[in-house]
Amino acid sequence: MEFHDLIIIGAGPAGLTAAIFAKRMGIDVAIVTKDVGGQAVLAEKIENYPGFMSISGKELISKMYAQVSNLGVPIIFDEVISIEENGSKFVVEGKFCKLVGKAVIIACGKSPKKLGVEREEEFVGKGISYCLLCDLPLFKDKEVGIIGPSTLMVPWITEACKVAAKVYAFFEGRVEEEIETKGCHMEIYENGKVRKLFGDERLESVEIEHEVDGVKKVERIKLDCLFVQRGFIVETSWLKNFIKLDENGQIIIDELCRTFSPEGNVKKGVFAAGDATSIPFKQIIVACGEGAKASLEAVRYLKKG
Ligand SMILES: Cc1cc2nc3c(=O)[nH]c(=O)nc-3n(C[C@H](O)[C@H](O)[C@H](O)COP(=O)(O)OP(=O)(O)OC[C@H]3O[C@@H](n4cnc5c(N)ncnc54)[C@H](O)[C@@H]3O)c2cc1C
Repeated sequence: MEFHDLIIIGAGPAGLTAAIFAKRMGIDVAIVTKDVGGQAVLAEKIENYPGFMSISGKELISKMYAQVSNLGVPIIFDEVISIEENGSKFVVEGKFCKLVGKAVIIACGKSPKKLGVEREEEFVGKGISYCLLCDLPLFKDKEVGIIGPSTLMVPWITEACKVAAKVYAFFEGRVEEEIETKGCHMEIYENGKVRKLFGDERLESVEIEHEVDGVKKVERIKLDCLFVQRGFIVETSWLKNFIKLDENGQIIIDELCRTFSPEGNVKKGVFAAGDATSIPFKQIIVACGEGAKASLEAVRYLKKG
């Protein structure tokens, strides 16, 4: 069993930033995580992180990781499956490890709901994107596809039309809301399903199955990018008896990144940051800012004794 003053769960932008802040303030901190970088490594190009005109997600994360390593923060690779309170300490249990800390920052993020077709992983960041808000500006005057259920697609189609030369909207069911199509080069496919992905270095085309008047059709469509708008999974079921979650499984926090017990009292010593929380605007700069805030508050808590 390892002991550290502060244990951070997750090494995405929020967790890495939290570690940098805590370590620089002289705190004995360790990270336990499934991977380094989280969703950010899926980003083809990041053009909204100050200080970099354009940088790939992998490169930005390798810089954050280098900073954390340089400070000597230990990183334990494991999936956390439970946290329990033991007096004024917390026992963080992974599949293989057990750590005890005086305070915990949960920065376990979220992950996109994938298509589940062959070669999907290969094209992530190379023509497949799970973040339209982040990556749409990279496809100005290009031909893009969007796939997902009506509720998650419609708000984005008009935005995509303003940027892309042509939009192929693959609805997983029927179109359920009104779409503003004026001046929009768009084709709508209902009951759409991606069957195959094609390309060499990047995604070049998709084979789509869809329905016209109840008859199934299969077509191959050339695309510069396919945006998968199927929502995200916040995997926090292991936390549900420990801290308060909202109806989407997001961790409810206050402005100091403090969490709450399921009964609604402040959970002293347990903080959360980034995409796993109920804070809006899921972006790297926001996750880093929240990670910094959680860390400053955790350090204040630890120093109070
Ligand atoms: C395709 C794509 C492109 C994007 N492009 C941009 C962009 O251009 N600009 C921008 O600002 N944002 C972008 N984003 C959003 C950005 O990546 C996220 O907002 C950011 O990564 C959130 O950081 P986070 O640390 O909160 O969570 P995450 O990045 O999700 O990291 C969570 C971490 O927690 C770990 N973890 C999860 N569960 C456990 C567990 N049980 N035990 C241990 N470890 C666990 C994961 O392994 C991971 O390391 C993009 C997202 C995607 C998917």
